[in-house]
Amino acid sequence: MQVRITVSFPYEAPVSQSLFDRASVVTPGGVNSPVRAFRAVGGTPRFMVSGTGPYLTDADGREYVDLVCSWGPMILGHSHPEVIAAVQDAVARGTSFGTPGAGEVELAEEIVARIEPVEQVRLVSSGTEATMSAIRLARGFTGRAKVVKFAGCYHGHVDALLAAAGSGVATFGLPDTPGVTGAQAGDTIVLPYNDLEAVRAAFAAHEGEIACVITEASPGNMGVVPPLPGFNQGLKDLCAANGALYISDEVMTGFRVSKAGWYGIDGVRPDLMTFGKVMGGGFPAAAFGGRAEVMAHLAPAGPVYQAGTLSGNPIATAAGVAQLRLLDDAAYEKVDAVSAELRALVGEALTKAGVAHRLQVAGNMFSVFFTDRDVRDYESAKTQESFRFTAFFHAMLEQGVYLPPSAFESWFVSTAHDAAAVERIAAALPSAAQAAAKATA
Ligand code: PLP
Repeated sequence: MQVRITVSFPYEAPVSQSLFDRASVVTPGGVNSPVRAFRAVGGTPRFMVSGTGPYLTDADGREYVDLVCSWGPMILGHSHPEVIAAVQDAVARGTSFGTPGAGEVELAEEIVARIEPVEQVRLVSSGTEATMSAIRLARGFTGRAKVVKFAGCYHGHVDALLAAAGSGVATFGLPDTPGVTGAQAGDTIVLPYNDLEAVRAAFAAHEGEIACVITEASPGNMGVVPPLPGFNQGLKDLCAANGALYISDEVMTGFRVSKAGWYGIDGVRPDLMTFGKVMGGGFPAAAFGGRAEVMAHLAPAGPVYQAGTLSGNPIATAAGVAQLRLLDDAAYEKVDAVSAELRALVGEALTKAGVAHRLQVAGNMFSVFFTDRDVRDYESAKTQESFRFTAFFHAMLEQGVYLPPSAFESWFVSTAHDAAAVERIAAALPSAAQAAAKATA
């Protein structure tokens, strides 16, 4: 079946379109991860062929300033010479051994050295594996079944966590995708984000049953919605008081918003943490870790099984170690400064065009909500005028700026976003803001 999106846009991408047509024959929806298909914004997904610094080049030869950065990992920009050299060096020595290797030790030591609550860490290959394994470990450690998560927080496509309290579902998670059974989601309690009272009530209603509370350290998957002051500490305290584990999912924020991720900003000490994205330097590497006493329950040290053929892959660990070692204080200062500059430019352009908006920030992550209300949870995030984002997105794309193709995603910048890249974004913003102003639902 050929899928061709018929919405017409003022510019063409014929090679991308033809690749998308071919992909749609052999791959469901033409992509290997849904958001890449541009369904939220329409038009032809760009098939990228190369990346250098802050730029991506698509199959039609058009260059874009990249504000997705592979959804976070490319914090040093694309093709950083030192990361590429480390990868080339590793590749030359072989690609996978199925044995322990020095690179795994080095990456684990980097993580433990940076993030104080992580006494031990286990490497996996994706953020999904990290959260899935952390939850299994929490259940194995506590001997309890139930998991609390928050609506709008994404923890990968773990069956039990694909319950996001769809309409009318007050607390108990109903699966919100076919293929996840009621049994798989039935032990998931979905609560509104930033609502400590709801968490307190859940602990009271399910005394002795809740294994863990998992939360994005600072959510970026409903757009950027930071925790209200005291929210993460409140979660930690409630978990401690009720014998449950507090799991902070730092797959997105980890090694991005500071050397020690969101923990480096709010200092709330989780029992377990999950990581991915930045720590792999653009390769599939992720991890979960935390208190040694909890991690000791993991096989082969303990009874909770967890494994992976490619876990700790030598190329992924080499890329991750190289990237983390380059991420010093100066690198974070640079990313923070670029982020602040862009936020100011975006805010100014939208204000000038008379577009109601909220810029929400978590460290150097930010997103724009097309609304005049503060966004503090998934319900309020959904009230934004997403149609304005669609117009804004395409106006930016046409002018060579690649934004996340959804209004509910964080924007990501890198140390490579230099003055020239920022200038190109600045030049594109006024007409994109005008397009957002004129957009109709
Ligand atoms: N947790 C968070 C907070 C994420 O943002 C993501 C992915 O975006 C995941 C988990 C899943 O990671 P992966 O896509 O590597 O499976």
